[in-house]
Amino acid sequence: MNDERLVTPTIQSNENEYEVRLRPRDFSEYVGQSNVVENVSLMVASSIKRLAAMDHALLSGPPGLGKTSLAMIIAAQLGSQLHMISGPAIEKKGDLAAILTNLKAKDVLFIDEIHRIPIAIEEILYSAMEDYRLDILIGQGPSARTMQIDIAPFTLIGATTRSGLLSNPLRERFTAILNFDFYGQKDLATIIKNNANKMQLKYDQAGIELMSSCARGTPRVANRILRRVRDYLLVYDSQKIDEKIVKEALKLMQIDHAGLDSMDRKILQVILDFYAGGPVGIDALSATLGEDRTTLEEVYEPYLLKEGFIVRSPRGRLVTDLAKNHLIQMKNIFN
Ligand code: ADP
Repeated sequence: MNDERLVTPTIQSNENEYEVRLRPRDFSEYVGQSNVVENVSLMVASSIKRLAAMDHALLSGPPGLGKTSLAMIIAAQLGSQLHMISGPAIEKKGDLAAILTNLKAKDVLFIDEIHRIPIAIEEILYSAMEDYRLDILIGQGPSARTMQIDIAPFTLIGATTRSGLLSNPLRERFTAILNFDFYGQKDLATIIKNNANKMQLKYDQAGIELMSSCARGTPRVANRILRRVRDYLLVYDSQKIDEKIVKEALKLMQIDHAGLDSMDRKILQVILDFYAGGPVGIDALSATLGEDRTTLEEVYEPYLLKEGFIVRSPRGRLVTDLAKNHLIQMKNIFN
């Protein structure tokens, strides 16, 4: 169900082709996140001057904000080979050991969702990151011994949507921990304009602004809205993306002016109707909605929190007056 949502910031199966086409290729195409970009540029420049591998960096923030894109740009700038893997795909110590021993000097290893690597496997990373060495335990009981294997000096770039779930020993081994923020409307407007140009679409400023204000502060969502508006444009044979077209397309997608879609509104409505506005614990909410707990926490909640539609207390989530008023307003439009 989550995969069908239009505003979901996680990647959808049919999107790879667009992700590739619209992905920023260098720092000049990478919009916003100025603090992260400044830090990363410095680390890249230093690595090039030292003729050594770049220091390890952890990129932290909600999905769709540009962590993977930045890792790709870093590797390209360094002239290094990029190896990409996702935390949940690492099931055995041997999986990780094989990847690490195959790295060449100054290669970049990007591990997405690094917080999902099981702790017993993650331990391999400690000596790999610190000393470029693998400590592998062979055998069991009294005859067990540790074997050490040298690996090439490499750069680990970890991406996580939940940096709080990372173990301390792993977190401490990153020289830089870079936090991604949701994008402001101006940056999103720039991204949408750049991509509309890449897709050879005509637009006016009001159309761009409306799309950027409904994109949940997330470039991936902005791109997705742009593609749906493009479909609308083609099918209805319109000349350019203007406010009217965008409004109609957004209504069709059930996205409201705050960027919330039907699932967001459902979450707020359920807290209001079933739990008298809260507080409600995440497990109870997840059971009532029939939605995975992790997805609620990592995908939906961050934006609802940031925009002030819900607040968190020690006893759970509560909807705010802003959310209550928003729901009343939207009932007339979408129901
Ligand atoms: P994450 O790894 O954080 O989930 P991605 O790097 O895959 O996010 O970004 C998703 C899409 O959003 C990319 O394909 C790209 O088109 C767009 N995007 C993300 N960040 C930026 C940015 N700073 N500038 C321009 N486009 C961006």
